[in-house]
Amino acid sequence: MPHLLEHLIIDHQTNDAHTAAHQRFVGTTRWADEGRQRACIEVNFYDDLVALRAAKDALAALNDMLNEHASAYGTERGADDSSS
Ligand SMILES: [Zn+2]
Repeated sequence: MPHLLEHLIIDHQTNDAHTAAHQRFVGTTRWADEGRQRACIEVNFYDDLVALRAAKDALAALNDMLNEHASAYGTERGADDSSS
């Protein structure tokens, strides 16, 4: 999962309107404490604002995917039952 987030951050930076075509992005991900699901993700950047936006949007996209997965399998927390 952290490795997926790394690639999403890179994708968002690559596709940002402020990123030049020649700019290349690389990253690494390693567990800091796998038992506690904590990982360290490093990604290079050219523009700090692009990088911050990419990290924010990538995290939101990953959360959306996880929520869709959870609701598809009926395990979404906080789902209301008013849609009968
Ligand atoms: Zn990778």
